[in-house]
Amino acid sequence: SRARALIRDWNLDKAFINGQWCRADSRETIDVHDPATGKVIGDVPFLRTSEARRAIDAADDAFPTWSGMLAKDRAGYLKRWRDLLERYQDDLAALITLEQGKPFDQAQREVVGAIAYAEWYAEEAKRAYGQTMPATQRDRRVVVQKHPVGVVAAITPWNFPLTMVVRKCAPALAAGCTVVIKPAEDTPISALAAAKLAEMAGFPAGVFNVVTGLPTPIGEALTGDPRVRMLSFTGSTEVGKRLIVQCAPTVKKLSLELGGNAPFIVMDDADIDAAVAGAMISKFRNSGQTCVCANRIFVQDGVYDRFVEKFIAASNAQTIGNGFVPGTDLGPLINRQAVAKVERLIENAQKGGAVLHYGAERPGDGHFVRPLVMTDVALDADCFDEELFAPVAPIYRFKTEDEVVALSNRVRAGLSSYLYSRDVGRIHRIADRLETGVVGINDGTTSHEGAPFGGVKESGQGREGGHWGLDEYLEPKYLNFALG
Ligand code: ADP
Repeated sequence: SRARALIRDWNLDKAFINGQWCRADSRETIDVHDPATGKVIGDVPFLRTSEARRAIDAADDAFPTWSGMLAKDRAGYLKRWRDLLERYQDDLAALITLEQGKPFDQAQREVVGAIAYAEWYAEEAKRAYGQTMPATQRDRRVVVQKHPVGVVAAITPWNFPLTMVVRKCAPALAAGCTVVIKPAEDTPISALAAAKLAEMAGFPAGVFNVVTGLPTPIGEALTGDPRVRMLSFTGSTEVGKRLIVQCAPTVKKLSLELGGNAPFIVMDDADIDAAVAGAMISKFRNSGQTCVCANRIFVQDGVYDRFVEKFIAASNAQTIGNGFVPGTDLGPLINRQAVAKVERLIENAQKGGAVLHYGAERPGDGHFVRPLVMTDVALDADCFDEELFAPVAPIYRFKTEDEVVALSNRVRAGLSSYLYSRDVGRIHRIADRLETGVVGINDGTTSHEGAPFGGVKESGQGREGGHWGLDEYLEPKYLNFALG
């Protein structure tokens, strides 16, 4: 009800274009649902190409002034935005739980993450340093400056509806870019709340725009427009590939954070209790709906039985229900399609011989999936290659280091991996060979706003976080001086 009051008070049923809260030209809307109940909680404008173009016009018009501002002044806006995210932390968390379903304490942690990114880039705005370099001729000087890319389109997913917006916009705005955000249609309200706070922080009109609606018309308007110089996208690999194609005719800069398929490796010498705790977090956080969630748990022969027994016990102790109920570990999945997908993967694994160990019963309504551990999963099961994106944990047994490295890398994705061992030599040997952008070592969580997050192979290109995240939105320009 706190969230509902906020939706009303902040007018979060409108899009935000050129500093104005607006409806669709057609007056059409799209419903937003609470995934825990399936009930409609509100609606947002169903924008089309014409409104998306207006947002690009606004961002394009605002770009010269915004990019021409002193970096420390842009930093000031970002700092105010950061402080507002903190002031409304619990309100924002309630909005996240309402539209996305995650337990309230996890939603609070999501807001903490958003604050951390806003803070980092408020600081980092002032550090877009260039370089000078030794010239190759005596009477020359070479100076390298960094310039913002231009108008940025950001397409964000539903699993972290607030943090994904901040993680893209904070560095883009710090760099001097203006942004048009298209949030996921399942979770547009958190993005509109971020816009509300940006308005309160005083960002000039047109710097920060949010367009709501269905993906295709807006996606095509954003990717097809030559004034949009960069696309920053987080979402599925399938959609990412389509967007690369759509961006080709105008040769946009791309930052893509696509699907993962994380291996979670437990070696014989690991601290088994720590490995179980790490696997629980990595697998079950956000009901398994993160791109860094353990998707394949590989346990070495010597500790397999011990790990499996403890992991099943921990999994069975998970509670499932509405995220607003204190003590809930697992909320619902985002929508019916997500449930149908994981049910297909479970059935496929079971046909291939997997043994199913179910935990808590599913509550009546909503898109809930019971926590499930699957053992004796065949290596050719569909869930070896596809992301489960659910609280379902397949465990595979292996014997040697070489074997587990080969298994880990036998997929197209390469975002995160996890490794539990206490042998420093072994850790380095394996980590060196894992084809992922991030390796969690004896830790089931890896997020850090100052570190370069992103993937290799089909998990995408570019990095978010730290100075790497700022660089995504900057282009070097070198000035060649003849001194004569
Ligand atoms: P997931 O739902 O697995 O996170 P999606 O890739 O479907 O992944 O969604 C991520 C974002 O991409 C959402 O904002 C969604 O609306 C958007 N999206 C989906 N299809 C397209 C498309 N064809 N063009 C542009 N954006 C799209």
